[in-house]
Amino acid sequence: MDPSFMQLALDLARATVGLTSPNPQVGCVLVRDGQVLGAGAHLYDQVDHAEIVTLKQARAAGYDPRDATAYVTLEPCSHHGRTGPCADALVAAGIARCVVATSDPNPAVSGRGLARLRAAGIDVRVGVLEAEAREINFAFACSITLERPCVTIKAALSVDGLLAPPPAQRLHTAPFFLTGLESRAEVQQLRHACDAVLSGIGTVLADDPQLTDRTGLPRRRPLMRVILDSSLRTARTSRLLNPSNQDVWFFCSAEASLDRATSLENAGAMVTRVASHGAGLDLHAILAHLHQASIRSVLLEAGSELNGAFLRQHLVDRAILYYAEAELGSGAVPFARDYPGPFALEQSIKDVQKRQVGADVCVSGLLRDPWTTSTGNPTPNPLAII
Ligand SMILES: [Zn+2]
Repeated sequence: MDPSFMQLALDLARATVGLTSPNPQVGCVLVRDGQVLGAGAHLYDQVDHAEIVTLKQARAAGYDPRDATAYVTLEPCSHHGRTGPCADALVAAGIARCVVATSDPNPAVSGRGLARLRAAGIDVRVGVLEAEAREINFAFACSITLERPCVTIKAALSVDGLLAPPPAQRLHTAPFFLTGLESRAEVQQLRHACDAVLSGIGTVLADDPQLTDRTGLPRRRPLMRVILDSSLRTARTSRLLNPSNQDVWFFCSAEASLDRATSLENAGAMVTRVASHGAGLDLHAILAHLHQASIRSVLLEAGSELNGAFLRQHLVDRAILYYAEAELGSGAVPFARDYPGPFALEQSIKDVQKRQVGADVCVSGLLRDPWTTSTGNPTPNPLAII
């Protein structure tokens, strides 16, 4: 019965997408004699962790949690944060058994919650539906272990792996779409699941995108639109800034015009100056700023320049590539500058997944396993050996 109750806890965790960051998505189910006494999930704005939500729910329904089994999708915490340790709460509640899908990704605390439960005589089982549980909190785990946001590269490509027709063939009166409606709807879901979307000035000038989360689903923080714009060429009239809001963050070089910075700030945007290396801004510095702002996950939706820069610097953790049926041929814009291309990237993915999405094919997968990566000593990114 363990997998089926854990599946219920995972479903509860999954349903909180957009509502827990910077915390992980966690679900919990409390069961005794096959009867569910309580079931809940963590929501950041309601503070309580999943275990506490569930214990409270069971008690409110008139159940004493004593001798019950708790199914939790992530190792119960053992530290004092905004709340007391959940491991202590489970011990105090007198549960007999705790089934955990995965240990904590933070090497500094991993295993401590489990040890505390075991020390109190609770029967602990770890690893039930572990892969699913780890997938749900992949971005959180990357962010904790790498101390920067998890970066997911997303691209819509032609069947021959190219990004867009040659600039001279582009119609500036209409947006250019390679992929179909189904793929574009999925991209909205990807934006919904991320804290920020990141793009470059080339994309802003070519497409004038909004880069918003248009799923209509609730999210606790607005999607941050991050634009790398060395000399602040984004027009005050761009769709990113209209209507004006606080959710646009420009990164520029130290030399960018003060007047342009002021103009963008007056439109509600944030402007941060970072060092530049050669042709591009310091990506490590930018990711450090985003990490400071509690941004756990970034969706990279950019052109060749930024795709190339992130890939060459091994700053991509997950790839999601949508291939259309159309071919673009020579002269088209490459996927990533000074990089072997999307097919080489696919070679670096662990457990490549291929799915049909409408008329398109989606190829996706992870480029690292944060659960085996320790802070300050990251496993070399497989892209390093291309
Ligand atoms: Zn907790």
